[in-house]
Amino acid sequence: MRPARALIDLQALRHNYQLARELTGAKALAVIKADAYGHGAVRVAQALEDQADGFAVACIEEALELRAAGVRGPVLLLEGFFEADELPLIIEHDFWCVVHSLWQLEAIEQARLSQPLTVWLKLDSGMHRVGLHPKDYHDAYQRLLASGKVAKIVLMSHFARADELDCTSSDEQVAVFDAARQGLAAQVSLRNSPSVMGWPSVSSDWVRPGIMLYGATPFGEDQAVAARLQPVMTLESKVICVRELPAGEPVGYGARFVTPKPMRIGVVAMGYADGYPRHAPTGTPVLVAGQRSQLLGRVSMDMLCIDLTDVPQAGLGSTVELWGKNILASDVATAADTIPYQIFCNLRRVPRLYSGT
Ligand SMILES: *Cc1c(COP(=O)(O)O)cnc(C)c1O
Repeated sequence: MRPARALIDLQALRHNYQLARELTGAKALAVIKADAYGHGAVRVAQALEDQADGFAVACIEEALELRAAGVRGPVLLLEGFFEADELPLIIEHDFWCVVHSLWQLEAIEQARLSQPLTVWLKLDSGMHRVGLHPKDYHDAYQRLLASGKVAKIVLMSHFARADELDCTSSDEQVAVFDAARQGLAAQVSLRNSPSVMGWPSVSSDWVRPGIMLYGATPFGEDQAVAARLQPVMTLESKVICVRELPAGEPVGYGARFVTPKPMRIGVVAMGYADGYPRHAPTGTPVLVAGQRSQLLGRVSMDMLCIDLTDVPQAGLGSTVELWGKNILASDVATAADTIPYQIFCNLRRVPRLYSGT
């Protein structure tokens, strides 16, 4: 059997969820969209179900997968419905629904609903992706109430730059949000992971942590709370071939690495078809036989090469951690010029093995 696999530590997941709660004193929706950032949405939801105030996903297809697996808690659809004909299913399964656009508001007004909806009314406070314009916000709130089709409304917005600790944009977004909701007596939800970790002064009845649940920092710089996260996923494989090369020999596609001296090279069963980033360059950290080393040359589809020159205890069959408890996913992502969100979401082909249930 091919030795590539992702070990998922559900105890670490629960620790990180609890940390989000502790840091904020708020209710927390565990964001498990995109198959829980590659960790497996059903298993993650089941592991958190006793603890979590609810879950958030991107679309009804993801929400239905949770219900089909028996997950009963609240599930928020972060983009609401894409077509009005999803509304009966939303009611049937008791999903909570973001309303981010006037067309969605109109669809609710026109729908015949057997039960009232729970709506999270989203304001565009400056990110300019989705969300109602501040000038329409009050009116939308009143129209939802007047429709008779809504039982509860939570006011929400989303930060564009909370991962930049010395940037004032988040404060400006809070000010826009506070102005737009003045006079509306409803709970609010603002904070994603970087805001939970780095912006203690932002108040929010509900928080929406995603990446921090999986134990990766959203910050590109050092940040105090990051050290308290426990990495959930360990992506590992084994050395399947060892080569001793003299100086001046190329390694891998495109001869992107040429040995500067005699070297010992390990070939690892892991490649970009597993989701390991193809753009990770020579020097990207790996752990082999318990010792830090580095990637060499181009990542191929099913294999990559690492440096064993200074790791004499490593050889055929040695375990390699590509990221996990020792090699942070965020460091690998940075080396590959991307973010841990993407390298987790890209995971595929690799079997996931769960522990800590
Ligand atoms: C994905 C998402 C989150 C979670 O963001 P993280 O940075 O992973 O914590 C929160 N809120 C909304 C609206 C999202 O789309």
